[in-house]
Amino acid sequence: MSLPLYLIGARGCGKTTVGQALALALGYAFSDTDKHLQQTTGLTVTEIVAAEGWQGFRQRESLSLQAVTADRTVIATGGGMVLAAENRQFMREHGQVIYLKADAAVLAARLEAYPEQAQRPTLTGRPIADEMVDVLAARDKLYHEAAHYIIDAMQQPEVVVEEIISALALARAS
Ligand code: ADP
Ligand code: MG
Repeated sequence: MSLPLYLIGARGCGKTTVGQALALALGYAFSDTDKHLQQTTGLTVTEIVAAEGWQGFRQRESLSLQAVTADRTVIATGGGMVLAAENRQFMREHGQVIYLKADAAVLAARLEAYPEQAQRPTLTGRPIADEMVDVLAARDKLYHEAAHYIIDAMQQPEVVVEEIISALALARAS
Protein backbone atom coordinates (compact mmCIF):
# COMPACT_ATOMS: atom_id res chain seq x y z
CA MET A 1 0.00 0.00 0.00
CA SER A 2 1.68 3.20 -1.10
CA LEU A 3 -1.01 5.05 -3.02
CA PRO A 4 -2.10 8.46 -1.71
CA LEU A 5 -4.89 8.41 0.89
CA TYR A 6 -7.41 11.21 0.40
CA LEU A 7 -9.49 12.31 3.39
CA ILE A 8 -12.78 13.93 2.45
CA GLY A 9 -15.63 15.38 4.49
CA ALA A 10 -17.09 18.64 5.69
CA ARG A 11 -15.17 21.29 7.61
CA GLY A 12 -14.61 20.09 11.17
CA CYS A 13 -14.82 16.35 10.45
CA GLY A 14 -11.16 15.96 11.43
CA LYS A 15 -9.32 15.77 8.10
CA THR A 16 -6.34 17.70 9.47
CA THR A 17 -6.34 16.20 12.98
CA VAL A 18 -6.90 12.61 11.90
CA GLY A 19 -4.81 13.04 8.75
CA GLN A 20 -1.69 14.08 10.66
CA ALA A 21 -2.09 11.20 13.14
CA LEU A 22 -2.72 8.71 10.33
CA ALA A 23 0.36 9.90 8.43
CA LEU A 24 2.46 9.52 11.57
CA ALA A 25 1.12 6.01 12.20
CA LEU A 26 1.80 4.89 8.63
CA GLY A 27 5.09 6.73 8.18
CA TYR A 28 3.51 8.73 5.35
CA ALA A 29 3.90 12.40 4.47
CA PHE A 30 0.95 14.70 5.16
CA SER A 31 -0.43 17.36 2.81
CA ASP A 32 -3.40 19.67 3.10
CA THR A 33 -4.91 21.14 -0.08
CA ASP A 34 -6.09 24.30 1.68
CA LYS A 35 -2.64 24.86 3.13
CA HIS A 36 -0.98 24.19 -0.23
CA LEU A 37 -3.30 26.74 -1.81
CA GLN A 38 -2.43 29.32 0.83
CA GLN A 39 1.31 28.71 0.56
CA THR A 40 1.42 28.86 -3.25
CA THR A 41 -0.78 31.95 -3.59
CA GLY A 42 0.28 33.74 -0.40
CA LEU A 43 -3.42 34.36 0.19
CA THR A 44 -5.87 32.96 2.70
CA VAL A 45 -8.97 31.13 1.51
CA THR A 46 -10.99 34.17 2.56
CA GLU A 47 -8.80 36.47 0.46
CA ILE A 48 -8.97 34.21 -2.62
CA VAL A 49 -12.75 34.05 -2.36
CA ALA A 50 -12.94 37.83 -1.94
CA ALA A 51 -10.73 38.43 -5.01
CA GLU A 52 -11.88 35.68 -7.35
CA GLY A 53 -15.15 34.36 -5.96
CA TRP A 54 -15.87 30.76 -5.03
CA GLN A 55 -15.47 29.74 -8.69
CA GLY A 56 -11.89 31.01 -8.80
CA PHE A 57 -11.20 29.30 -5.51
CA ARG A 58 -12.59 25.99 -6.81
CA GLN A 59 -10.36 26.12 -9.90
CA ARG A 60 -7.27 26.69 -7.80
CA GLU A 61 -8.39 23.95 -5.42
CA SER A 62 -8.39 21.36 -8.24
CA LEU A 63 -4.82 22.36 -9.16
CA SER A 64 -3.75 22.01 -5.52
CA LEU A 65 -5.27 18.54 -5.36
CA GLN A 66 -3.19 17.46 -8.34
CA ALA A 67 -0.05 19.18 -7.04
CA VAL A 68 -0.05 17.46 -3.62
CA THR A 69 -0.87 14.01 -4.99
CA ALA A 70 2.06 11.69 -4.31
CA ASP A 71 2.64 8.13 -3.13
CA ARG A 72 2.90 7.48 0.60
CA THR A 73 1.03 10.68 1.40
CA VAL A 74 -2.10 11.36 3.45
CA ILE A 75 -3.97 14.25 1.84
CA ALA A 76 -6.51 16.35 3.74
CA THR A 77 -8.80 17.93 1.17
CA GLY A 78 -10.93 21.06 1.33
CA GLY A 79 -14.53 20.40 2.38
CA GLY A 80 -15.84 21.33 -1.06
CA MET A 81 -13.32 19.26 -3.02
CA VAL A 82 -15.98 16.71 -3.98
CA LEU A 83 -18.22 19.31 -5.64
CA ALA A 84 -16.37 18.93 -8.95
CA ALA A 85 -16.87 15.57 -10.69
CA GLU A 86 -13.35 16.01 -12.04
CA ASN A 87 -11.93 16.04 -8.49
CA ARG A 88 -13.98 13.02 -7.39
CA GLN A 89 -12.75 11.03 -10.38
CA PHE A 90 -9.14 12.18 -9.92
CA MET A 91 -9.05 11.05 -6.27
CA ARG A 92 -10.67 7.67 -6.98
CA GLU A 93 -8.27 7.00 -9.83
CA HIS A 94 -5.12 8.04 -8.00
CA GLY A 95 -5.60 6.62 -4.53
CA GLN A 96 -7.91 5.45 -1.76
CA VAL A 97 -10.62 7.90 -0.72
CA ILE A 98 -11.82 7.98 2.89
CA TYR A 99 -14.95 9.86 3.99
CA LEU A 100 -14.80 11.06 7.61
CA LYS A 101 -18.50 11.17 8.33
CA ALA A 102 -20.05 13.18 11.17
CA ASP A 103 -23.47 14.70 11.92
CA ALA A 104 -24.08 18.39 11.28
CA ALA A 105 -24.53 19.08 15.01
CA VAL A 106 -21.15 17.55 15.84
CA LEU A 107 -19.40 19.48 13.07
CA ALA A 108 -21.02 22.74 14.16
CA ALA A 109 -20.08 22.18 17.81
CA ARG A 110 -16.44 21.58 16.87
CA LEU A 111 -16.25 24.66 14.68
CA GLU A 112 -17.96 26.82 17.27
CA ALA A 113 -15.52 25.64 19.93
CA TYR A 114 -12.56 26.75 17.78
CA PRO A 115 -13.81 29.58 15.54
CA GLU A 116 -10.25 30.72 14.82
CA GLN A 117 -9.67 27.43 13.03
CA ALA A 118 -12.73 27.86 10.83
CA GLN A 119 -10.59 30.13 8.64
CA ARG A 120 -13.18 30.45 5.97
CA PRO A 121 -16.18 32.68 5.29
CA THR A 122 -19.47 30.95 5.98
CA LEU A 123 -21.14 30.10 2.71
CA THR A 124 -24.39 31.83 3.58
CA GLY A 125 -23.79 34.14 6.56
CA ARG A 126 -26.25 32.11 8.65
CA PRO A 127 -25.54 30.34 11.97
CA ILE A 128 -22.97 27.58 11.52
CA ALA A 129 -25.31 24.83 12.80
CA ASP A 130 -27.97 25.70 10.20
CA GLU A 131 -25.38 25.96 7.50
CA MET A 132 -23.89 22.55 8.30
CA VAL A 133 -27.29 20.89 7.88
CA ASP A 134 -27.56 22.39 4.39
CA VAL A 135 -23.93 21.67 3.50
CA LEU A 136 -24.33 18.01 4.38
CA ALA A 137 -27.69 17.76 2.61
CA ALA A 138 -25.98 19.02 -0.53
CA ARG A 139 -22.71 17.12 -0.21
CA ASP A 140 -23.27 13.86 1.71
CA LYS A 141 -24.23 12.06 -1.50
CA LEU A 142 -21.07 13.34 -3.21
CA TYR A 143 -18.85 12.29 -0.28
CA HIS A 144 -20.38 8.81 -0.48
CA GLU A 145 -19.97 8.71 -4.24
CA ALA A 146 -16.30 9.66 -4.06
CA ALA A 147 -15.37 7.43 -1.10
CA HIS A 148 -13.92 3.93 -1.09
CA TYR A 149 -14.33 3.85 2.71
CA ILE A 150 -16.76 5.57 5.08
CA ILE A 151 -15.53 6.00 8.65
CA ASP A 152 -17.50 7.27 11.67
CA ALA A 153 -15.60 10.48 12.51
CA MET A 154 -17.57 11.16 15.71
CA GLN A 155 -15.23 8.87 17.67
CA GLN A 156 -11.96 9.88 19.32
CA PRO A 157 -9.28 10.71 16.73
CA GLU A 158 -7.14 7.68 17.76
CA VAL A 159 -10.12 5.39 17.14
CA VAL A 160 -10.79 6.99 13.77
CA VAL A 161 -7.15 6.41 12.80
CA GLU A 162 -7.33 2.75 13.91
CA GLU A 163 -10.52 2.17 11.92
CA ILE A 164 -8.96 3.61 8.78
CA ILE A 165 -5.88 1.42 9.15
CA SER A 166 -8.07 -1.67 9.73
CA ALA A 167 -10.24 -0.90 6.71
CA LEU A 168 -7.20 -0.53 4.47
CA ALA A 169 -5.58 -3.70 5.87
CA LEU A 170 -8.77 -5.73 5.36
CA ALA A 171 -8.99 -4.51 1.78
CA ARG A 172 -5.40 -5.56 1.18
CA ALA A 173 -5.98 -8.99 2.66
CA SER A 174 -9.09 -9.75 0.59
P1 ADP B 1 -11.00 19.61 9.21
O1 ADP B 1 -9.55 19.64 8.83
O2 ADP B 1 -11.75 18.44 8.64
O3 ADP B 1 -11.72 20.91 8.96
P2 ADP B 1 -9.96 19.59 11.90
O4 ADP B 1 -9.04 18.42 11.96
O5 ADP B 1 -9.34 20.94 11.71
O6 ADP B 1 -11.08 19.36 10.79
O7 ADP B 1 -10.84 19.56 13.21
C1 ADP B 1 -11.73 20.62 13.55
C2 ADP B 1 -11.82 20.73 15.07
O8 ADP B 1 -12.43 19.55 15.58
C3 ADP B 1 -10.46 20.83 15.75
O9 ADP B 1 -10.59 21.69 16.85
C4 ADP B 1 -10.17 19.42 16.18
O10 ADP B 1 -9.37 19.39 17.35
C5 ADP B 1 -11.55 18.87 16.46
N1 ADP B 1 -11.63 17.44 16.14
C6 ADP B 1 -11.23 16.84 15.00
N2 ADP B 1 -11.47 15.52 15.00
C7 ADP B 1 -12.06 15.26 16.19
C8 ADP B 1 -12.55 14.06 16.80
N3 ADP B 1 -12.50 12.87 16.18
N4 ADP B 1 -13.08 14.17 18.02
C9 ADP B 1 -13.15 15.36 18.65
N5 ADP B 1 -12.71 16.54 18.12
C10 ADP B 1 -12.16 16.49 16.91
MG1 MG C 1 -8.38 21.00 7.83
